[in-house]
Amino acid sequence: MKTSAFWDKKMETISRESLKKLQLARLKETVRFALKTPFYRTRLKKAGIASADAIKRWEDIKKIPFTTKDDLRECYPDGLLAVPLQDVVRVHTSSGTTGTPTVIYHTKADLDSWTDLVARSIVATGAGKQDIFQNMMSYGMFTGGLGLHYGAERVGMTVIPMGGGNTKRQIQLMKDFGTTVLHITPSYMLHVHSKLAEAGMEIKDLKLRKAYLGAEPYSENTRRKVEQLFHIDAYNSYGLSEMNGPGVAFECVEKKGMHVWEDVYIVEVIDPRTGESLPDEKEGELVFTNLTRRATPLLRYRTRDIACIHKGPCACKRTHRRISRITGRTDDMLIVNGVNVYPSQIEEVIMRIPQVGTNYMIRLEKEGTLDKLIVQVEIYSKMFRGDLNEIDRLKEKIREELRASIIIHPSVELHEPGSLPVFEGKAKRVVDNRQKL
Ligand code: AMP
Ligand code: ZN
Repeated sequence: MKTSAFWDKKMETISRESLKKLQLARLKETVRFALKTPFYRTRLKKAGIASADAIKRWEDIKKIPFTTKDDLRECYPDGLLAVPLQDVVRVHTSSGTTGTPTVIYHTKADLDSWTDLVARSIVATGAGKQDIFQNMMSYGMFTGGLGLHYGAERVGMTVIPMGGGNTKRQIQLMKDFGTTVLHITPSYMLHVHSKLAEAGMEIKDLKLRKAYLGAEPYSENTRRKVEQLFHIDAYNSYGLSEMNGPGVAFECVEKKGMHVWEDVYIVEVIDPRTGESLPDEKEGELVFTNLTRRATPLLRYRTRDIACIHKGPCACKRTHRRISRITGRTDDMLIVNGVNVYPSQIEEVIMRIPQVGTNYMIRLEKEGTLDKLIVQVEIYSKMFRGDLNEIDRLKEKIREELRASIIIHPSVELHEPGSLPVFEGKAKRVVDNRQKL
């Protein structure tokens, strides 16, 4: 039966009316803190918000300008710090692979609020203190590790803080400690499956019940594949370091979208080109405001993640609205000979083909003046024992199904299991060699 307890029933089932009132009061307080930072003092005053009193009604949020990742970079290292440094107990930064990192400071109360949301999320998936939780997300600056760690401890789960990598040992620990819940990226989860046999293990040797999959976009077909391969329930977990990390939105046992914890986050969906608000069920860019963080207040932060807000209540009785799966990012769209393609469209197609294994890559090359899209797919080894005609037919089938979905004709390469690059954290599946020529 699909049921789960509540971590904070009163807050999770609060009426929409009370929730909006609470959001407004918290938004005002957040603006008050934001005005303490050099960045927002200038930015908000320019927009006519000289004090928190400018926020009177819920709709006044529209007066607040958006904040972008570039704004955060410009504030490096402390242009967004709203409390004395001595009140800060932790700092997280983004990886900074594409330039100056972004910095988020946390007070003790900020961490407490974040931890509570993660605890809420875990309980919403039907897990609890009886569970053995193996955290396979990397610890350190990346918020996936510590975020889930503290939430799981708060719930009272038995936590195995393994971090990412060392697959053989991961599998051994799963068996030895009877791990029931994993936190892991979907790409790494699929890789773990391909290593089970090598570790001399079968699914029946493990006690896995659930996995929390997040940190990177993946398709519904990948979720299904993980669930079937491991005989478990897989839940989508969404977060970003600018909004603390995991625990921004999480699926409940219904698995029909991720509840955004709206007492702490205001979620909006906008048209990324115009900045206009979009109605429910319409896909656009997610924008979040954190309503409780004091050390680094962030107002109307543009995530670049694409999703929609679902209409209507959830059968689990939580009143907090749900967002859809993230279908891509405004900055990961590929333009191939003028046609827009999202990597997620490619994944959706290949992961529903049974012969396809657990890994793939997307490569872009220049051929003369034209772009060439190459989809490299690992297939199960039994396929390689089949005749060549069979392999050709499979290649053609994948090519045809991709063409039907993305309009362009890609080249398809079939690879043996274990031959494509493996990612133990966030996967980087797109290699674009076009500019290099
Ligand atoms: P970071 O700030 O490094 O934790 O990265 C956050 C980003 O990871 C988000 O903005 C999303 O692009 C991506 N992400 C996190 N969780 C998910 C998820 N469940 N589905 C899709 N993308 C995700
Ligand atoms: Zn629900």
